[in-house]
Amino acid sequence: MRRVSIFGATGSIGQNTIDLIARAPDAYDVVALTGAGNIAQLADDARRLGADIAITARDDRLEDLRDALKGSGIAAAAGADAIREAATRPADWIMSAIVGAAGLAPGIEALKQGATLALANKESLVCAGKLMLETARTHGAAILPVDSEHSAVFQALIGEDMAAVERIIITASGGAFRDWPLEDLAEATLEQASNHPNWDMGQRITIDSASMFNKAMEVIETREFFGVYPKQIEVLVHPQSMIHALVGFNDGALMAHIGPPDMRHAIGYALHHPHRKPLPVERLDLAKIGSFEFRAPDEARWPALRLARDVMERGGMAGAVFNAAKEIALDGFIAGQLRFPQMAQVVEDTLEQLNADAGLIDVTMTLDNVAHVDHLARQTAKAVSKKRAG
Ligand code: NDP
Ligand code: MG
Repeated sequence: MRRVSIFGATGSIGQNTIDLIARAPDAYDVVALTGAGNIAQLADDARRLGADIAITARDDRLEDLRDALKGSGIAAAAGADAIREAATRPADWIMSAIVGAAGLAPGIEALKQGATLALANKESLVCAGKLMLETARTHGAAILPVDSEHSAVFQALIGEDMAAVERIIITASGGAFRDWPLEDLAEATLEQASNHPNWDMGQRITIDSASMFNKAMEVIETREFFGVYPKQIEVLVHPQSMIHALVGFNDGALMAHIGPPDMRHAIGYALHHPHRKPLPVERLDLAKIGSFEFRAPDEARWPALRLARDVMERGGMAGAVFNAAKEIALDGFIAGQLRFPQMAQVVEDTLEQLNADAGLIDVTMTLDNVAHVDHLARQTAKAVSKKRAG
């Protein structure tokens, strides 16, 4: 039996992971499940899967969790430290699907115990890619991509020589506002931004898809994961979201990965790696689909893509600043304090203020230093947001 833990079990990726694991209950021994506010789901899944422990990120919900688990023999815990500690519990395969920078510390612990880390939490690679990769190397742990684009690239690279790779193209649906007149973006509502044309995902990543902050993060994630130069990474708008990525080789060949927009493919691939096993996803009928569409991304519409390039050029901790500023700007938009286009302005202003400080950005990448930069960037982004909103 494979021991598995799922961090962010109550979210969109977590639930898709549980869907796959619950189909083969005899194959998995579930160690830890974590969530935050959704206590009922967390407790239900912990009971159904027979987990050893369930943890909520929220200290104020511990009693609720205990109540919900009463009589089950499943341990309950709460808080960020408890989540981090849960990642030290021996497991063979660990899903990292917490949203935001909160996923970093448990991810590092999972790598330290040498587990295979299925990484949906792209924020950890954006904030601390070098640290994640070094930790994996030192402890003999594997990181497998779960982001659909990166899973696609990973699969397209099997058996290939990285030296023959010219470019990596990740696709983007363009999100909710792909076809909106630019001048209307300032009036975009939360509800409109929370509606993805193709994918059913958590609210934060859905809004990040409309702003392309998600794709900007994925460009940085591509650089970290595959070790290519920034100039080798391209973004291509592909409204159907069926080609997830393409790898271009030095002989002109492009290897594309095509599949339905269903995260269970990428999750299942990471779960069964290095084997392929049948997955309950739709089989595409290409004749019925008829055609695929492509467009160049427009940086006036999606300034986040330009900011990602700046971050990669700056290097060091710029990724941690970028992610933290993005999280605060997104909070501001969700709370109705910032207009949609102001999110990118807040991130740009924060980067400008902090990236000039070499002592801050060029320090050694440790978990403590990342936390410090993350904290400062959040403070700066809050101050900048206030100014922008006012
Ligand atoms: P959701 O918002 O659906 O789920 C987030 C999960 O994290 C939930 O379990 C939530 O708990 C938990 N959580 C929220 N805040 C905290 C916190 N401070 N500490 C610990 N846990 C917390 O997100 P998604 O599933 O959409 O995304 C998860 C990750 O996967 C993100 O990094 C995202 O970028 C990435 N990803 C997602 C894709 C998708 O299709 N959804 C595709 C590719 C990548 P609760 O719900 O109980 O409050
Ligand atoms: Mg993706």
